[in-house]
Formats: sequence, C-alpha cells, structure tokens
Amino acid sequence: MTARILSGKEIAEQIKLEVAEEVKTLAEKHGVRPCLAVVRVGEDAASAVYVGSKVKTSEELGMISEHHHLSEDISHEELLNLVRELNDREEVDGILVQLPLPSQIDEREILETINPEKDVDGFHPVNVGKLSQGQKSLVPCTPAGIIEILKRSNIPIAGEHAVIIGRSNIVGKPMAQLFLRENATVTICHSRTRNLAEVASQGNILVAAIGRAGFVRAEYIKEGATVIDVGMNNASTAEEAHELFGEDELEKRLNTIARRGSTLVGDVNPREAKEKAANFTPVPGGVGLLTVAMLMKNTVEAAKMRRLESKK
Ligand code: NAP
Repeated sequence: MTARILSGKEIAEQIKLEVAEEVKTLAEKHGVRPCLAVVRVGEDAASAVYVGSKVKTSEELGMISEHHHLSEDISHEELLNLVRELNDREEVDGILVQLPLPSQIDEREILETINPEKDVDGFHPVNVGKLSQGQKSLVPCTPAGIIEILKRSNIPIAGEHAVIIGRSNIVGKPMAQLFLRENATVTICHSRTRNLAEVASQGNILVAAIGRAGFVRAEYIKEGATVIDVGMNNASTAEEAHELFGEDELEKRLNTIARRGSTLVGDVNPREAKEKAANFTPVPGGVGLLTVAMLMKNTVEAAKMRRLESKK
C-alpha cells in the first residue's frame, strides 16, 4: 500500500481564506476588527520563528496584531501585569503567551491569569473543563487542526477506534476529548503503556505526539490506517536518514542535513508508514501548518463570542 499524503498546506490555506472572509464580514457588519496580542519573553530562536509567523499571518488575514517582546530577565509580576492589562483592554480579542517561559516565571499562574474568553491557545482550566464537558469553548490549536485535516480529507471519525500516543495538555489530552466529541472510540497511550505496538496497531486512526524521531514503526500501524504525525524533531546523521526515508525523499533529506546540519522529522517513521497506512500526514507540511491557521480561527471565534454573542 502507498499512503495518500494529507497535505496540511492546502487545508491550512483553505482555513485561512475562510478566516479572512469572516474578518471582512465582522468589520463590515459589526465594525469589529479581531486583535491578537502575542507575548514573547527572551530570545529563544524557535519561539521567535513561531511568534513571527503568528503575527505575520494575522496581519495577512486583516486582523490587528500586537507583538509584546519582553526581556529574558522580566519579573513574574511584570509579566502578570502585562497579561492583566491585555485582559482589561476591550479591543484585544486573543492573548497568546509563547512557551517556554524563563525559570523565574510561574508559567501556570500566567496561563491561568489570561481571561478564558481571550485564551486563544485553549490552555486555561476553564476552557479545558468546558471541552471535557462538551461545551462550546476555545480549543487547543494543534488537535483542533487534526480534526480539520481528517474531516476535510473525508476520513470518517465517528465509530472509529482512535489511538493517541502521548498525553500532554497541549496535544494528547485535548485530542482525546475532540475525538470523543466526534464519537470515536478513544485509547490514550503513554510511556507506561504495556505492549504499546500492539495497542497502537488497533487504531483505525493513530495520532503520534511523543517527541521522538521516527518512534512509530510498521508494527505500530494497522494496515490501511490513517496516521497523523504531530512530532517535530531533528535528524542529523546520514544513518538516521537512511532508516527514516524511502527513495522518494532520501536524497533531498541528505542534502538538507549536509546544508543545514539537520532535517525535520516527526514521531513516525515515514518510510514504513507510507507502506502500511492508507493516509499519512508528512513532516514538514502536515499538522504543523494547521496550528497557526487554527490560532487565527480561534481569534475570530473569541472576538465573535465575547463581542457579539455574549451581548445578545
Ligand atoms: P510532551 O509534553 O513531551 O509529551 C510527550 C508524551 O509522549 C507524554 O505523554 C509521554 O508519556 C509520551 N511518551 C514519551 N516517550 C514515550 C514512549 N517511549 N512511549 C510511549 N509514550 C511516550 O510533548 P508534546 O508537547 O505533546 O509534543 C509531542 C510532539 O509534538 C513533540 O515532538 C512536539 O515538538 C510536537 N508538537 C508539534 C506541534 C505542531 O504544531 N505540529 C504542536 C505541539 C507539539 P508520559 O506522559 O508517560 O511521560
């Protein structure tokens, strides 16, 4: 079997077009222009790239964006005060504090201080609770993006057995809640799961959110399954590349390693997944692209819920 590759790029573009349309309608009909405030602390290189792409995309879609870049040694109180200020400003619809934060800052208190109505990452306990109770809420972007990929690729979810490897608050747990909401039968696996390959290989849909390059091998995958690869890891040796990539992409990957020192890989071995799965999300070019698109969708949703629906 050669898996169909589910392109995150096309789906992310579709969602962004829809968001831009909604932004236009909100401005024309209600005089509302959604505003996303992104807060970044310090000089973490990956955070700078993520924040840059979030700010740029929100502007491209016609939203207002604010980038608050604070120095590495900012105190916990100062950051807390900025979040409170953003909470109080009527025109700010979404607040995103880019993680990780420096050690002097209590990450949990910062995230819990964000007004749940402006919590576009969906990490606040109020939104987590609402999601688990099946109430309307702001939902974490990466798992929400995975549901979009499946639905827009016409892959059935209701009644299917969805297996998730990983139980983080950002991906694994909200993914399980979203699958339940879509009427899947859900299994969550983690580092203490016994016979992991055997459990994983029962999934018609398998989501890997582990943080280990190429961890999911052929024996984890049910023949004909849909495999969603959330992982973002680096492979830096030719040996790893030979293990991970088939002839279709090996040369390109080896060139990338030679040029940049590493190449981006997911938690699934793509060479083996492509042979066994029916559908597969590539890394890069899969789930990652949806995360930013869903953040934009959440910002518009937050603006609508807080500024229009709550005032009805
Ligand atoms: P995380 O918080 O580190 O959680 C990893 C999970 O994997 C944990 O639940 C852990 O189990 C489980 N795990 C680790 N080793 C395992 C093993 N040997 N067998 C079974 N389970 C194991 O990671 P995360 O934040 O969920 O991220 C996971 C991956 O997705 C990372 O590569 C990250 O970079 C990527 N990611 C991508 C996006 C995107 O937009 N594409 C967004 C978020 C994350 P325990 O709970 O038992 O420790």
